[in-house]
Amino acid sequence: MHAPLSPSFSLASPRGHSLDPPEVLALFLELHRRSQHRIYLLYVMRESGILADGAGAEIYLVDDKKFEVVEQLAHDECRCTFILKDKMNWPYRMELLKKGSWRVESFQEQCVGCFGEGTDGGHDWGCGVCGGSGWGVL
Ligand SMILES: [Zn+2]
Repeated sequence: MHAPLSPSFSLASPRGHSLDPPEVLALFLELHRRSQHRIYLLYVMRESGILADGAGAEIYLVDDKKFEVVEQLAHDECRCTFILKDKMNWPYRMELLKKGSWRVESFQEQCVGCFGEGTDGGHDWGCGVCGGSGWGVL
């Protein structure tokens, strides 16, 4: 067992159950807001139990610390996606996976190459910036 970094970095919600997706999102945004370095963000996420196994490369730390939730897309019982926007209205996507508990798999901005379309200006091949996912950078 790891000692908690501070009393506010608690695994359990006040109601005593494991965190649901909106609670994981709120905790992530709080940790993101406090983090100056990406490696620190990943560390405190892992310590808080909200970092998915193998995740890291697709979790961004951005300068903008103020995000607004646009929508929550619940795909099924073990996958959930949030669409957010920063103060410039640029979209971000957060994906959560449930493996025992809900954890963050990715937090990426919308691709600046294709604006989320995943294609390269009408050509057959996929966007060279994001690889066709419409989010993040290859
Ligand atoms: Zn793209």
